[in-house]
Amino acid sequence: MKIHEYQGKELFRRFGLAVPEGRACDTVDEAVAAYRELGKEIAVVKAQIHAGGRGKGGGVKLVKSEDEARAAAEAILGMQLVTHQTGAEGQKVRKLLVEEGSAIEHEYYIGIAVDRESRMPVMMASSEGGMDIEVVAENSPDKILKAAFSPAAGLSSAEAEKLAKGIGIPDAMVAEAAKFLVGLAKCFIDLDCSLAEINPLVTTKDGKVIALDAKVNFDESALFRHEELNDLRDLHEEEAKEIEASKYDLSYIALDGNIACMVNGAGLAMSTMDVIQLYGGEPANFLDVGGGATTEKVTAAFRILLSDKKVEGVLINIFGGIMKCDVIANGVVEAIKQIDLEVPLVVRLEGTNVEQGKKILNESGLPLISADDLDDAAQKICAAVKGA
Ligand code: GDP
Ligand code: MN
Repeated sequence: MKIHEYQGKELFRRFGLAVPEGRACDTVDEAVAAYRELGKEIAVVKAQIHAGGRGKGGGVKLVKSEDEARAAAEAILGMQLVTHQTGAEGQKVRKLLVEEGSAIEHEYYIGIAVDRESRMPVMMASSEGGMDIEVVAENSPDKILKAAFSPAAGLSSAEAEKLAKGIGIPDAMVAEAAKFLVGLAKCFIDLDCSLAEINPLVTTKDGKVIALDAKVNFDESALFRHEELNDLRDLHEEEAKEIEASKYDLSYIALDGNIACMVNGAGLAMSTMDVIQLYGGEPANFLDVGGGATTEKVTAAFRILLSDKKVEGVLINIFGGIMKCDVIANGVVEAIKQIDLEVPLVVRLEGTNVEQGKKILNESGLPLISADDLDDAAQKICAAVKGA
């Protein structure tokens, strides 16, 4: 789950991390009032969307007067902000963060993610802040320092100091920076984050170490341990179909292709997508109905799949273990009765109650194509979509 920068900074504050003073605003008038209240000559008006690259897209503006604050807020609020992370259609700006400006000495990059290889959280730090870290990783990987740390012990002060020195934080500020890094690691662990990224972390001309940006993502599987974090969710920023899917406890992820897949189990979903691609098709989504799907759930899944206008064909690939094939078959028949199916549908069922399942589908009189195995199913859906 992603949250906004202003929310991330609020959490940082609770962990004792220095962030600029600021106010979240919903209107231009609020933004002007916030500028006045901050009472600093220079302030920054920042678009709040769940995507990075706002600065380059025109979503971050430095202002030096009330009039400038108003003009910036008017320009940014309501704009369709396009960044390299939003796609061409951009994301509508509904909220602003107005905060005191910082006199930047140097911009650094700090990020924590879970590293699959070492199976530990890893802090990454770089002197090359304020730019795309992916570009730094590509062109000068030696400029990114890394330190894995145990979630139980946290990041030690010694490790933090080594990183701070390593990225060139001036000696006088190393202790403060190290304290910041230790606090960020604690925040990451305590809140079950999947990502905590600050780009840029800056040193200022008056000798402070401050987070100018905050990108915090949470591990959704651990959200039950942090009920208060659920309030930070902003549904405007999430894909409508993914929200609908989460209501039914379905794992749905929209992709770019035209073949919708309904599958039970994440491993099966991934191999299904691979085999579709092997035969020249492109999956439109990843939808896992899970182990204990009911007719209601399958109907919802089907509706979600077909609401995607890019979909030109559907492949249902079910391996019935806990899930029974006849339940899936009933769900499919029920769903098609409720929804006009205008695209080809290939069904491959295997496992528990497969015979009953096939019988239900065959006797339904619905125009579906049945397949014997995954290979057969993928070839049939790819051919059907090409023919359409
Ligand atoms: P992003 O583009 O979405 O990553 O948004 P950021 O919050 O990182 O802001 C983009 C850039 O704006 C930063 O890298 C800074 O260079 C600049 N910026 C943000 N806040 C301030 C500030 O208080 N003072 C100055 N001088 N620049 C700022
Ligand atoms: Mn940034």
